[in-house]
This record gives sequence, C-alpha cells and structure tokens, in this order.
Amino acid sequence: MLTFTPNILKNLAAKPATRKYPFVKREQFSGVRGELYNDIDNCIFCGMCSRKCPTQCITVDKTAGTWVCDPFTCVFCGICADSCPAKCLHFHAEHRPPSVERETISMQGEPPKPKVKKKAKAAPAKEEAGKKAKAEPEEAPKED
Ligand code: SF4
Ligand code: SF4
Repeated sequence: MLTFTPNILKNLAAKPATRKYPFVKREQFSGVRGELYNDIDNCIFCGMCSRKCPTQCITVDKTAGTWVCDPFTCVFCGICADSCPAKCLHFHAEHRPPSVERETISMQGEPPKPKVKKKAKAAPAKEEAGKKAKAEPEEAPKED
C-alpha cells in the first residue's frame, strides 16, 4: 500500500488524462485525413481516382458528370488524392460524423464536352488536292 500512495496522491491532484468527448474535442493534427472532398468544378472525370482506389469505393461517370464515393468503404489511404491529375481531391481535417445509415458522397459536375475530330476537316482538303492532281496531268519527261 505504501508503494502506491505517492501515485494515488499524484493522480488525485492531477488533471484527468481523458477529455469529455464529444463536448471537448482534441485539435486535429496537421495533414490528418478526415472526410474526402472533391472540388467538382475542377474535376475532369478522368476516372484515375476510381482505378487507383484499392477498395474500389469511387465511381466516376464521365458522360453524366458524376463522382460518387462510398465513405464506409474508404480506408483513407490518400492514393486517390495523390494520383488525381486535376488535384481536385482533398481531405477535410474533420471526420465524418457517425451515421446509422449507409450514405454515399455524390457530386454532380459539368461533363466534359466531346472532342471534335480533326480528321473531318482534313478529309476535304485531301479530296481537293486529289482533284487538282487529276485536273493537271503530269508533264512528260523531256527528251534530249
Ligand atoms: S482523378 Fe481527379 S480529375 Fe480524375 S475523376 Fe478523380 S477526382 Fe476527377
Ligand atoms: S482514400 Fe484510398 S480508399 Fe479512400 S477513396 Fe481514396 S483511394 Fe479509395
């Protein structure tokens, strides 16, 4: 008993080692990976995040311009954010609040416009050149 007495007295005088969560919350460390967020206006819907995600919790639809993530499957590894070419994926410092229902993070953006094929323009130019070549017969080689 005498061995423990100093420890008991010290603990009685000291502040509690724990916090009264959720009333008192600890400040987050810098660089903490909280909720995943997509700055959808900058997203180009390339699908790289979806292909790189080890848990396959991201779905990207380029045609519809949608980006969907299942936060209950995410392991917060950060690979998606690191591999995003548009640098539009970020982690909020705050974690998602607990939920009794399975929710997904669904974002709607502007789908990229389909690219116009350049070949369509080049084709008439080629045809024109072919027509000219037919109209102007080649000169016969000169004989000495
Ligand atoms: S990698 Fe980035 S730009 Fe590409 S679909 Fe994902 S969030 Fe959008
Ligand atoms: S943090 Fe990891 S697990 Fe979560 S969406 Fe990104 S790649 Fe997938």
